[in-house]
Amino acid sequence: MKKITILLPAYNEVETMGLLEHSMLQVAEQNPGYDWEFLLVNDGSTDGTLQQMLRMHNSDARFCVVDLSRNYGKEIAMMAGFDYATGDAVIIMDADMQHPVSVIPEMIHYWEQGFDDVYAQRKSSNEGWLKRKTSQWYYRLLQSFTSIPIQQDTGDFRLLDRTCVEALKQMREVERNTKGMYSWIGFNKKGITYEQQERQAGASKWRPGALVNLALNGITSYTTAPLRLASILGLIVSLVAFVYLVYIIVVTNVCGEPVQGYPTIMVTVLFLGGVQLLSLGILGEYLGRVFNEVKRRPGYFVNSYNGKRESNEHHSQDLSPAS
Ligand code: UDP
Ligand code: MG
Repeated sequence: MKKITILLPAYNEVETMGLLEHSMLQVAEQNPGYDWEFLLVNDGSTDGTLQQMLRMHNSDARFCVVDLSRNYGKEIAMMAGFDYATGDAVIIMDADMQHPVSVIPEMIHYWEQGFDDVYAQRKSSNEGWLKRKTSQWYYRLLQSFTSIPIQQDTGDFRLLDRTCVEALKQMREVERNTKGMYSWIGFNKKGITYEQQERQAGASKWRPGALVNLALNGITSYTTAPLRLASILGLIVSLVAFVYLVYIIVVTNVCGEPVQGYPTIMVTVLFLGGVQLLSLGILGEYLGRVFNEVKRRPGYFVNSYNGKRESNEHHSQDLSPAS
């Protein structure tokens, strides 16, 4: 019998744990043709989420629990999940149950047809206008940098075949943008649509700052195009400055017009200063990433694991590159 892992990263989701347990047991009941593993990754919750998870594990061994040593963020929690998942396929879902379990049979259907990555696209979103628009612009911006197709309105809600999971496990960068990685690894993709659910309880963990962070990370982890942008900007500014120089020489010598000194100098200095700071900032973004990656730290540490994976493996310390 094939085994499917449902990967559920959770940070302070104590209010939704009951609903989660109920939904998962329902999934198992409605799809009896598969072995199920419900992999709960506790991302350093402070509100008793872990106790709920352990209770679930004790009452049903299909619930496995990875307890991370602190809050690392969803991207790293998912990385831990990939390491600990034992299924032939992994379905990633939010622990707040905003992702409907009703599309799971459809995902499995396409997986059985040979698709390796069945991703779910939001049909309509009940998020605010601003969040929706900014995410739309962001996708468009990111896509303009690269020829690798990026799936719009697609999050982490998807079914991944073991092949994809093994590929993702080899990508050990710690400043992760998993969305970009799904596209990057390729393989056979299939999109399906779903209605995003309202959050049943608790609050969204995203703060505006975190979103900006994620957006910047997405760009810098996905493409080096902004570095080129800095060079192109420099080139354009130099060209414009040169044309302006010729213009001033002509105007003063031929037309005998006195040049306005102060405004022209101010404009030039401010403009160039801005361009230089922008370019430095772009360089800094990439340098910061390099700094964080060359330390080659493990992505996470684990307090405890309650589940079925062989205990002699230590993926969290496994730093081996894709050799
Ligand atoms: N999450 C996590 N670590 C964090 C933040 C969030 O594991 O530091 C989990 C969270 O428990 C949820 C999922 O990531 O299962 C999505 O988070 P959230 O619902 O807050 O994001 P939103 O749906 O608002 O985008
Ligand atoms: Mg949510």
